[in-house]
Amino acid sequence: MTMESGLRGKIIKGIAGQYYVHTGGAEIYECKAKGIFRKDNTRPLVGDNVELEILDEDKKVGSISSIMPRKSALIRPAVANVDQALVIFAAARPAPVFQLLDRFLVMMRRQNLPCIICFNKSDLVSGEEIRRLKEIYIDCGCRIVFASAQENTGIKGEPGALMELLRGKTTTVAGPSGAGKSSIVNRLQDEVCMETGEISRKIERGRHTTRHSQLIALEDETYIMDTPGFSSLMLPDMEKEELSACYPEFDAYEAECRFGGCAHIGEPVCGIKDAVAAGKISRMRYENYALLYEELKNRKKY
Ligand code: GDP
Ligand code: ZN
Repeated sequence: MTMESGLRGKIIKGIAGQYYVHTGGAEIYECKAKGIFRKDNTRPLVGDNVELEILDEDKKVGSISSIMPRKSALIRPAVANVDQALVIFAAARPAPVFQLLDRFLVMMRRQNLPCIICFNKSDLVSGEEIRRLKEIYIDCGCRIVFASAQENTGIKGEPGALMELLRGKTTTVAGPSGAGKSSIVNRLQDEVCMETGEISRKIERGRHTTRHSQLIALEDETYIMDTPGFSSLMLPDMEKEELSACYPEFDAYEAECRFGGCAHIGEPVCGIKDAVAAGKISRMRYENYALLYEELKNRKKY
């Protein structure tokens, strides 16, 4: 006799061959993956959309019978089907380190991952400071959101709020510690605390093991993942010549560079440097580009 099948869900956590599959609402099944995956040499990943067979409906135990084709897979952390990244910086306290933010944006661009920038703690800064931050990143190719976890603004239930950009997607969340990531994630979870409470209880047993990546369901089809270890970001694995392609605001001015393959550093006629001088490209972004370029140039090759 065949078991009930065809139920679909998303793996939100995996520990030692045990997978937790969210099938909607507050439903989570504890599943093992069938032996067929070993044969195919595919290991289920957090983020995988799967089909499962229910083995015990009361105990919410199932078995993963197939993995839907992956749209993508990140290596570090190992997670499938991530649609975008959300990077959270404080607008103040601590003041944003733009060099760190820009480095993160380059890393995401190298992985073809669209990025949302969220400046939190906007309650601590003036309108003028908000305009300054907006100006630096206006043409960087990312959506920008100003939020305050403390005052609960810019996060949910208002036009242009963060939640609108997350809905229906799987998003990795990153940012330096102290930026307010946990506070924002808590605000985003407001209405699903019952669900997530259940999720946490189910996964509690895994707590003593090492930290694994885990998705949090905000709504059906909407997931976020907290990624630790932001400040230890390494230099992206790339050639210095590939860097300028990670700055969308350079595109419109590159035609005015005299030399093809212009590095926009020391060349005499350079559309990018002219645009910076004319205030059309953010000086902050350009200077951080030049620093990263220098770093890539001097990097030891192994
Ligand atoms: P995380 O390390 O990025 O997870 O940051 P937390 O969420 O732990 O927040 C760090 C500190 O900033 C805490 O003391 C929070 O109370 C405070 N904080 C978080 N969000 C805001 C905000 O929007 N405004 C202000 N003024 N403080 C905030
Ligand atoms: Zn140039």
